Parts: sequence; C-alpha cells; structure tokens
Amino acid sequence: MLELNQESFYVTHHIQKIAAFFAAMENFAEKLRADGHQVIYKHVDAPGNTGSLNEELSKIIVSEDIGCFEYQQPDEYRLEKQLSEFCTSLSIPSKVFDTEHFLCGRDEFTAHFAGKKTYLMESFYRMMRRKTGILMLGDEPLGGKWNFDHENRSKLPSKYHLPQIPNIVNAISQVLERIQNANLPSIGSIHNSAIAWPINRAQALQILQHFAHNLLPNFGTFQDAMTEKDAFLYHSRLSFALNAKLLHPLEVINTCIEAWIENPERIALNQLEGFVRQILGWREYMRGIYWSQMPKYAHLNFFEVERKLPDWFWTGKTKMNCLHHAIDQSLEHAYAHHIQRLMVTGNFMLLAGIHPDEADRWYLGIYIDAIEWVEITNTRGMSQFADGGIVGSKPYCSSAAYIQKMSDYCAGCPYDSKTKTEANSCPFNSLYWHFHVRNREKLERNPRIGMMYKTWDKMQPDVQQAVLRKGDSLLQNIENL
Ligand code: FAD
Ligand code: SF4
Repeated sequence: MLELNQESFYVTHHIQKIAAFFAAMENFAEKLRADGHQVIYKHVDAPGNTGSLNEELSKIIVSEDIGCFEYQQPDEYRLEKQLSEFCTSLSIPSKVFDTEHFLCGRDEFTAHFAGKKTYLMESFYRMMRRKTGILMLGDEPLGGKWNFDHENRSKLPSKYHLPQIPNIVNAISQVLERIQNANLPSIGSIHNSAIAWPINRAQALQILQHFAHNLLPNFGTFQDAMTEKDAFLYHSRLSFALNAKLLHPLEVINTCIEAWIENPERIALNQLEGFVRQILGWREYMRGIYWSQMPKYAHLNFFEVERKLPDWFWTGKTKMNCLHHAIDQSLEHAYAHHIQRLMVTGNFMLLAGIHPDEADRWYLGIYIDAIEWVEITNTRGMSQFADGGIVGSKPYCSSAAYIQKMSDYCAGCPYDSKTKTEANSCPFNSLYWHFHVRNREKLERNPRIGMMYKTWDKMQPDVQQAVLRKGDSLLQNIENL
C-alpha cells in the first residue's frame, strides 16, 4: 500500500481528505496484518518514496521477486490508464480483476442503455430494483410506487432541534506530520489535528447504524433543506465510507431496510425509498455514466464557457450569504450536502458561466468524498450541464426563489431575494435570466425549458434591458459579490 504524492498534484485536495485516506489506508493495512497477510506499506515521507505509482511498483516487483502482477479495476480512468500501460511495460504476466464494490457492472450499464437515445436514471433505477429485488414485491415496487419524491423535500420547521451525530474524533497528528514533511499542497482547515470522518470499518458501521435508526426517519422529508445552523441535518455522511470502500453499498441499503422492518411506524417507506434511490440509483448510475463516457466526458463544455472561478470560492469571503455558508462549511468540514452543492455553489457557477474545468477542480479538491467517477458526473453533468443533457434533461438552476424557499440563508443576507435590478438585488435573480438569454439558441428547443422563454418574451423590453445590464455588471464585478 502506497501513500503517493502523485495523488496530490492533479488537483489540490482538502487537508481532511488527504488525511482521512492515509489514515484509513493505514488502519486497513493493520487489519490485514492482524489477519495474517503480508503487507508492504510505504509512508508518503518515507526515504526513497518517489511518489510515482509506476516507479514504486517496479521497485517492489524486483525486491520481492514478484512472478505475476495482479490488480483490481480502479475507480478512476486516470489510474486505469496508468495501470494498463504499466502492465504493457512489464516482463512478467499481469491480470486485472473486476471490482466487487458496486452493484452494477460496467458492461451491464452499457447493455441496459444499448440502442436507447437517452440515459434515463429512472429506467436504470427500476432495472436495478428488479435485478436486486430491493424494495420489490414480485415484479411490483413495494408500496405500489417506484418513487415517493412528492412526499419528500420540505423546508425545516422554524422550531427545529438539531439531530445528534456520533462523536467520532480521530487524532491524526502523525498523518498530518507526514503530509507536512512531504510538502503536499492542501486547502481547507482541520481542528486540533483530528477529523470526524470514519477511518475504519467499526466507525463506518457506527455512523451507518446511527443513520438508519436516528436520521433515516426524516431523511427524505428534509433532504433538500438548508440552514445556517447545521451542516449535516439528516444526511448520512456515508459518502466517504462508501467511496473509500469501508462499507459496501449493499450493506448500507440492507441496514436501512432492517431498521425499517424493525420499526415501520417510525421510518416511513417514502424515507427509505428516497435513501435507497440515492445508493442503488444515483450512485450506480453516475458510475455507469462515467465509464461509458470517459475520457471524452472530461472535456465537454456544452455552453462553451470560459470564466474563471472567483477567488472567494477558496475563502468563503462573499456577501452572498448562501454561498458564504456553503463554501465556509466546505472549507471547515470538507462537506456540503447535495442541495448545497447543486443549488447554491453549482447553481452560481452555472449561471455565471464558469468553465467546467474550474468547477471540477473545485469540487474534486474540496469534498471528502470527491473521487473523479462520482465528482465529474455530478459536476460537469448534473450541475453544470456541460454534457449537454447526458445526465440531466435540463440544467438544474434557479433564481433566489428556490434558495429562499428551502433555506434560512436569505433572511441574513445583505442582498434582497425578491428583486432583480436594484443595487442590492440578489445576483441569482438577474443572472438566472442572463444565463437563459445568452444560451437561448442551445436551450430554447428543450421542451422542459420552452416556457421560460415565453415568460421572458412577455416582459417589457425596458425590464429585459435592465435585467441584462444588471447581469453584465455583476459578471464584470464577480470578484466583489
Ligand atoms: P446523503 O444525502 O446521505 O445520501 C446518501 C448517499 O447516496 C451518499 O453518501 C452517496 O453515496 C449517494 N448519493 C446521493 N446522491 C448522489 C449522487 N448525485 N451521485 C452519487 N451518489 C449519490 N458525491 C460523491 O460521493 N462524491 C463527489 O465527489 C460528489 N460530488 C458532487 C458534486 C456536485 C456538484 C453535486 C451536485 C453532487 C455531488 N455528489 C458527490 C453527490 C452528493 O452530493 C453526495 O454524495 C452527498 O452530498 C454526500 O453526503 P452524504 O453521504 O451525507 O449523502
Ligand atoms: Fe443567496 Fe440571494 Fe438569498 Fe442572498 S438573497 S442568501 S445571495 S439567494
């Protein structure tokens, strides 16, 4: 097992992310040794660690007199390419094995969509439900419906008690020392040299059990809610444990189903189905999209946008309260929940015309769970619509109205969420129209967006001009918003 600095230079990662990966690797190595395996483990600052996968593997092949090189399919295209090229350079035989960590094979995904014009997540999700029998009664979905979304997604009530979360404190000063010794670049903060992310299976299982019994009862209901007061709400915080393979997706789903069977009064089916859809549906779907579309996916830029990400994305220092909170929280915890990523930071980047490479660089660096297969499909696809509609049938964007409805951010914001063209008007309101007008040619024929242009066309020309002027001036002053 190799801590490699090659993994720290393709993008600048959050310090908690680097530390969590190294700590989880080290714990896993110890577990393997305790089980009687022989493990070679190299620290990132160990003398002679070149930081290159190829060089380190070559050295081990010679020093251990290895007769055959075998590896499991990695999750990233970059690494798959590197490993398959490495194999062609070897004078010993090599073999690659499929990964056991997902529920849908790469070929299975391709076969499901063969001959279809669009990659509809819903059709994939239903296929996965049928294939696995999860939440099924024979060939019918449990509860008579595939999707209970309309019962979910409420705003938080004004009198709201923050849910308790397990108190995990992993002291990682030795890992931090190694990161410092190796001069690895990083972003974000870490408090008291400790992280609250799980770094072994016991901790991952503790978070999973806590989620299934205490948070799942409200998961779907408040899935889209956002508040200044709490970063995690009823979200599971399991993405790192899943992506680092401390947990298998099936055991996550089964634990939640067991909790529901034990206590159906407390956990309604809509909460359970909403959660299962994230793991069995979205997570597997994103992986399928990644492997069916790479490497060209990493260069898609449907709107042909060029703008650089404003500097305040790296500091959180913006007057826009929603962005200030979502960014600050990301720098502090290496975490933001889905709607903060999609409808706050992603929404702003889309409306402002930020280059998708810049968007990817930010998302891939900052989040504890960011690994390219799931980051790029969510960012370039779902959030930025840079794939022109492979993942989503229309861009996910909104004016201030959505953020106002789903959060308490606007109440504490110097901008006015209700107006478009005043000096203190919320930037989302004019940028929303600016985005649609400048991309009219690319979007107008989309049946899900056509109505938007009808509304725009009905506005008075002087109002239209004022909105576009406001949008122009905001984009010119983007660093000072
Ligand atoms: P919960 O809300 O509790 O959801 C449960 C689980 O469902 C998650 O742990 C995750 O494994 C899965 N899941 C939910 N939504 C998605 C989705 N859209 N795609 C894939 N899996 C999903 N997720 C990542 O794991 N890594 C990323 O790098 C990542 N980047 C994102 C970038 C953008 C712009 C957006 C909009 C979303 C991104 N997501 C990413 C998806 C989602 O936001 C995170 O999985 C989720 O916020 C993680 O927090 P949680 O574990 O508390 O999730
Ligand atoms: Fe965000 Fe606009 Fe609301 Fe301020 S007013 S919090 S910028 S949506």
